[in-house]
Amino acid sequence: MDNDDFRKWSHRAADWGADYRATLRDRPVRAQTQPGEIAARIGLSAPEEPEAMEAIFADFERDIVPGMTHWQHPRFFAYFPANAAPVSVVAEYLVSTMAAQCMLWQTSPAATELETKVIDWLRQALGLPEDFSGVIQDSASSATLSAVLVMRERALGWAGNRAGLSGQPRIRIYCSDQVHTSIDRAIWVAGIGEENLVRVPTGGRWRSMQSTALEEAIQADRAAGLLPAGIIASVGGTSIGGTDDVAAVAAIAKKYGLYLHVDAAWAGSAMICPEFRHFWSGVEHADSVVFNPHKWLGAQFDCSIHFVCDPESLVRTLAIRPEYLKTQGRDGIVNYSEWTVPLGRRFRALKLWFLLRAHGLETLRQMIRNHVGWSEGLASRLAEVPGFEIVTEPMLSLFTFRHQPCDEQRADEHNLALVDAINNDGRIYLTQTRVDGRVAIRFQAGQFEATEADVDVAFDVITEIAARITTETAR
Ligand SMILES: *Cc1c(COP(=O)(O)O)cnc(C)c1O
Repeated sequence: MDNDDFRKWSHRAADWGADYRATLRDRPVRAQTQPGEIAARIGLSAPEEPEAMEAIFADFERDIVPGMTHWQHPRFFAYFPANAAPVSVVAEYLVSTMAAQCMLWQTSPAATELETKVIDWLRQALGLPEDFSGVIQDSASSATLSAVLVMRERALGWAGNRAGLSGQPRIRIYCSDQVHTSIDRAIWVAGIGEENLVRVPTGGRWRSMQSTALEEAIQADRAAGLLPAGIIASVGGTSIGGTDDVAAVAAIAKKYGLYLHVDAAWAGSAMICPEFRHFWSGVEHADSVVFNPHKWLGAQFDCSIHFVCDPESLVRTLAIRPEYLKTQGRDGIVNYSEWTVPLGRRFRALKLWFLLRAHGLETLRQMIRNHVGWSEGLASRLAEVPGFEIVTEPMLSLFTFRHQPCDEQRADEHNLALVDAINNDGRIYLTQTRVDGRVAIRFQAGQFEATEADVDVAFDVITEIAARITTETAR
């Protein structure tokens, strides 16, 4: 592709993007394709000769787009949002064009210095204290893995990377049963082993780790000669928004010298609103906090902020060249690849800078407040409809519900059939979870372009389809 064609096709892509966004409401949210349908349309091997861009682009529109689930659809109420505010897409285009590797300060000083700045903007926006610095990671999974590696190295006196884990005492890490599966994987990959991830019993409205149980587990492990290393607290778990009492957990972490990582991948964005910060009060005592601006805040994927109190332990765990240890940031030079597992790094700060400037924090706060309010409104409306039960109350904008068929025995089957029928309908998209072993349907509002009318559509679709499948099964 020569430069003239690059210009032409970049314009075409921009036009396509604007048309796509403008027509999202008319598309089914979840792809309506069968397994293998898209693969069957793709050639068996790569062509030997060049093909015309016209043909490639036409195939993209014909064969690929129909197989996409539309995460930017305003009625995407499944999982958690993965918002890509248009302004962040524009920034990503510029980043893709320059395609710099931003692993060291000198491999792109602007990328490093802007990263330091926007992380500090976000630190202030979230109300975190000044002693937090951070790095932009690809995903919360990577940030949590880094934090778990720090827990391991710190507990082993920095010997794990060098000597391996065999012959070392067994490391123990504590969390609730509400944490994301990325925690399990971090434990596996760090060589600690699932059996050493201690699930502390939970209680209360937000299913928080019970402090006494946490403390007893740590004491018992110590007495047994095991090596407690860290605690992972959840703020806004993926299933029902499970949230630990961070202040209580932090006090225990401090008492036993354990490293505390807080996973607020989704809920962290809401902390730009001071009224929601009670959900993570005590976070200032954490050692490490992750939140994903690529979820609720609108910075297109991937963009995960990993805040740390003491970057030196992160660098000591992950940097190949320890001479940087002593100068980390102090001479104005930060090499962010020493804060993460991967070496190569995309210039992720630019989209945050564009996003925060183009929207302004107050607009973003208002968006999040709307989502929370609309979600609470939907939960109260559903609670009034006979046959519907709110299973877990809204935690920010996430709640779960269930529709009760006449035959209580078949409730799980019925609710799975309901989610399926809703998603086949295409007007909205929902996902399910299990609460105390039973199926519940999740609803979260968080899409950037969602309006209150879209949430009203969700009410209509849910109640209409529940009534329909109930009559169908009764027949
Ligand atoms: C989404 C999510 C994750 C995983 O985030 P990735 O960035 O996809 O790795 C982890 N924890 C929680 C609470 C989440 O909501």
